[in-house]
Amino acid sequence: MPKPVLAIVGRPNVGKSTIFNRIVGERIAIVEDKPGVTRDRIYSSAEWLNHEFHVIDTGGIEMNEEPLMVQMRQQAELAIEEADVICFVVNGREGMTGADEEVAQILYRSKKPVVLAVNKIDDPTMHDRLYEFYSLGVGDPFPISGSHGIGLGDLLDQVAEHFPKDKEEDYDEDTVRISLIGRPNVGKSSLVNAILGEERVIVSDIPGTTRDAIDTPFEKDGQDYVVIDTAGMRKKGKVYESTEKYSVLRALRAIERSDVVLMVINAEEGIIEQDKKIAGYAHEAGRAIIIVVNKWDVIEKDDKTMKNFEQKIRDEFLYLDYAPILFLSAKTKRRMHNLLPMVNKVSEIHNMRVPTHVLNDLIVDAVTMNPAPTDSGGKRLRINYATQVAVAPPTFVLFVNDPELMHFSYRRFLENKIRDTFDFTGTPIRIIARKKND
Ligand code: GDP
Ligand code: GDP
Repeated sequence: MPKPVLAIVGRPNVGKSTIFNRIVGERIAIVEDKPGVTRDRIYSSAEWLNHEFHVIDTGGIEMNEEPLMVQMRQQAELAIEEADVICFVVNGREGMTGADEEVAQILYRSKKPVVLAVNKIDDPTMHDRLYEFYSLGVGDPFPISGSHGIGLGDLLDQVAEHFPKDKEEDYDEDTVRISLIGRPNVGKSSLVNAILGEERVIVSDIPGTTRDAIDTPFEKDGQDYVVIDTAGMRKKGKVYESTEKYSVLRALRAIERSDVVLMVINAEEGIIEQDKKIAGYAHEAGRAIIIVVNKWDVIEKDDKTMKNFEQKIRDEFLYLDYAPILFLSAKTKRRMHNLLPMVNKVSEIHNMRVPTHVLNDLIVDAVTMNPAPTDSGGKRLRINYATQVAVAPPTFVLFVNDPELMHFSYRRFLENKIRDTFDFTGTPIRIIARKKND
């Protein structure tokens, strides 16, 4: 079931990122257990009571050097497009401004649920600052203090009230959901067309069922797929065009909804920072990942070109060392036939379960050969038992004497051992250390 989305909107300095961090809590730290994963604090999952949802800090999206009002409008429109609920943050210390009124109007017209947070109300004596904000016309103002963590519970209760009740899963479980991620012009649409144009691909004439409505379901050799086309979305709205360079939101949503992410790179241009950021999300989200180097036709090649290019990719995407790389051309169709079989392969692996006894034998061997180092107090990690608790991505829990003793490098060592034994091509794997008696 797709999680609902909360977007935080408001002028610079009203406290959006402070509130975002409060709502997100420690989650970001939890998913991030490898160096090189870009920390980006504009999008994260969060939880309140029994609700899991996504939070977007629209203020974190760089808007180049547009004037404030233009930026505000774009952020508001993005939030309207992407979110189920919008948290509109104003500054209780400064009072209402013209920009607040303008944003309020845009939000009001959208008819999206809005929860109004009056921030920087650090103590109760300031409550009378609330009243002027009633005139924004977007509902009752909630007094909060992001930096002191006051009032957020009530605010989130209100937010959760507005979450859609039943968001149905888009496709049945056996459908392989594929998204194509990458900068404009790398050839995402061309790749989609090339996939759909392949022999024996039967494209469904039922249009996409999600609100994004650019999904293309198809079938090949008895397997159902759907392509989630972020490139198509760009052509849909003006906001998307104007924010294409810096908005990663659509990519993130597509990643969320997919099983297999095709990270598309233009062979001519190579990799840029943005690519790494987006790939980092796919990794953190635990999706299966294939790196697709498109436009391979335009590259002048000798016998080392592919090896060198591959090395460059490995150097840039250190944490994606498990992702297979395909060199192909959507235009000439050269090597296109490798793509769907690779999608099938990584998708299967993404859902692979390893037998508990084999896993435990492997861990015992690894630990015998290379015991965890002792910490400064002379304590050493001991692993009692290991088990796979989830697939997609494969997730392993190790029951240990003290989870604090599980260090990054040792986790990495164990991951490598697991990868040496089982073919986990194309999928991130998670290793969680838990105290033995928990
Ligand atoms: P953003 O630009 O809207 O993301 O705002 P930030 O979260 O970066 O906050 C801007 C400034 O306001 C920072 O100096 C914060 O420490 C401060 N701030 C955020 N929340 C509060 C609050 O509840 N009370 C006070 N007094 N300051 C706050
Ligand atoms: P998107 O923005 O990522 O969806 O990229 P498009 O699919 O719209 O492609 C951008 C441009 O690159 C178009 O002019 C395509 O014809 C061209 N293009 C796409 N794939 C290839 C390829 O494999 N080789 C070459 N030479 N050009 C390509």
